Amino acid sequence: MIMVFCEQRNGELLNVGLELIGKARELARSLDCEVSAVVCGHNVGYIGNRLIQNGADKVFVIEHELLEKYTLDLYTESLYQLISNEKPDILLLGATSIGRELGPRLAARLKTGLTADCTQLEIGQETKLLLMTRPAFGGNLMATIICPDRRPQMATIRPGIFPLPSMDANRKGETILFNPKITREDLRVRVEKIVQKIRTVKDITAEKIIVAGGRGIGSKENFELLEELAELLGGVVAGSRAAVDAGWLPKELQVGQTGKVVKPKLYIAVGISGAIQHVAGMQDSEYIIAINKDPDAPIMKIADLGIVGDWKSVVKALIKELRNE
Ligand code: FAD
Repeated sequence: MIMVFCEQRNGELLNVGLELIGKARELARSLDCEVSAVVCGHNVGYIGNRLIQNGADKVFVIEHELLEKYTLDLYTESLYQLISNEKPDILLLGATSIGRELGPRLAARLKTGLTADCTQLEIGQETKLLLMTRPAFGGNLMATIICPDRRPQMATIRPGIFPLPSMDANRKGETILFNPKITREDLRVRVEKIVQKIRTVKDITAEKIIVAGGRGIGSKENFELLEELAELLGGVVAGSRAAVDAGWLPKELQVGQTGKVVKPKLYIAVGISGAIQHVAGMQDSEYIIAINKDPDAPIMKIADLGIVGDWKSVVKALIKELRNE
């Protein structure tokens, strides 16, 4: 069985769980096994049907009033009890803040390994082992990791890597209620209050057009020209880590290995060299335009259209054209 932990927050499912169910379905074809989803919380049974419609054969609903708010202690214990019962072959979690916290704790309890922050999953043709690929050595190479003799084989996967599966409203499956044996005494840390962070910047992963700027832009003020271009195109501005580290953009707008993974219809990389860690976050964009003064910049190799020149004159010309001036 391939089991996917599907995270919910305030009753809202996170997309990454559905993305992983879609991927698990694909992997299950090579293993000829079923796909199960796990959702944890209080009064969250209604989510089960949605997970089945998106590809789960079985949904385990871990239900308890103490699970209403996420706590590391009780989620770990509850999941540990379920996994010890069901003994899945593979366990997948989203590499969200919660998944990144839960994954290692669970792996330690289950005495198995965990490959964190994977960007690709496959089944080995002969070994039938899960091949878990992730950036290694500061992102300079991709390592494929296996877990040969411990179960489950565990991985966390970054949100946005795999596409959302298509929903089938007629799909049938089984929803199983699981009541974990947990008590208030298992809680070593109590959550008093959850304070919602007010989102001040857009979620770039949902955008169709992105104009991204890098170190080549030169200053925070220069980003205003990129804002103007993005607005004319109906898109948003994002950037490389160099632009974020320079304080020109907030961290939420960073694209790449340690930023967001985006797949817009159009990605315009302006003054970005195309380091492997940046490319990891945008290479699946449908159409890539690179504007760079260096014809040999690595970004040119993955661009559908490369424009060699000073970014300011190119962007100004584009703005003029779009304004029909
Ligand atoms: P540079 O590499 O300095 O490139 C600037 C480009 O601008 C050059 O190609 C230059 O030719 C061009 N340019 C300069 N002036 C002009 C001009 N006037 N007109 C046109 N073009 C011009 N990076 C990310 O982006 N995202 C990540 O998530 C990320 N994660 C990382 C994680 C790790 C563990 C590590 C080690 C690094 C990570 N990096 C990440 C950093 C990455 O390695 C690069 O350093 C970074 O992407 C470089 O940003 P850049 O392309 O903007 O700058």
